[in-house]
Amino acid sequence: MRFDVVTLFPSFIKEAFSYGVIGRAIKNRKIELETWDPRKFSDDREGRIDDRPYGGGPGMIMQARPLIKSIEAAERKSKSSYIVSMCPKGKLFNHKKAQEFVSKPHLILICGRYEGIDQRVLDQKVHEECSIGDYVLSGGEIPALIIIEAVSRFVPGVLGDPDSTIDESFSNGLLEYPQFTRPESDDYGKVPKVLLSGDHKKILQWRLKQSLLKTYRSRPDLLEQRELTEEESTLLEEIISEEKG
Ligand code: SAH
Repeated sequence: MRFDVVTLFPSFIKEAFSYGVIGRAIKNRKIELETWDPRKFSDDREGRIDDRPYGGGPGMIMQARPLIKSIEAAERKSKSSYIVSMCPKGKLFNHKKAQEFVSKPHLILICGRYEGIDQRVLDQKVHEECSIGDYVLSGGEIPALIIIEAVSRFVPGVLGDPDSTIDESFSNGLLEYPQFTRPESDDYGKVPKVLLSGDHKKILQWRLKQSLLKTYRSRPDLLEQRELTEEESTLLEEIISEEKG
């Protein structure tokens, strides 16, 4: 999969992905990443790419031309690209959106700065605006990193164990159960006995109940969106009465 990022801070993006899972995926060529700096496409001698908003108001706006020229340079890297602008006014990015984006072989992500970007970029070039949450950041770089990171986890060969994305928070509409590793017991507590029992069925049931409990406590909205199996409904009823009791 290929990502192109239009950004005033190319080294910020490159540096962030010189580490960890994504760094390795780039080295192994499972993922291609390139950045495009709109300043290089500016007609201004000093490379300016922003100006004051028409109609007045605070701050500066990124001009359409250098952004569109950057996008067009990135578009030439493949036959078909999907263009996403980082924007607090966009649709919320989530697990489902990450899975949707992984089906696109080439994503171009546009990072705004200042007060945002000229609307003509959105009208002419952008397929979708994406927000990473209901708050305002100073730039689209961190949102772009988040999207690349979340989408890349679904690219085959990026994670060491492909099952990691199956048994993870959100993958089945629930949050993940608690995890433990060695030692079995120490000053900080003991590992729940069931996990040491070797009884696979019991372990699965314990994990399901813990997932439901965590989701009930942290994200009850996820339970409302999900159809529960009979086993899950019974466990959830148990949880609710235990929580009340
Ligand atoms: N004036 C704009 C905010 C601009 S913030 C407004 O009120 O909507 C500057 C840039 O940061 C944006 O262009 C966008 O690229 C990025 N950004 C800020 N918050 C974001 C968020 N929650 N999700 C995605 N991008 C965001």
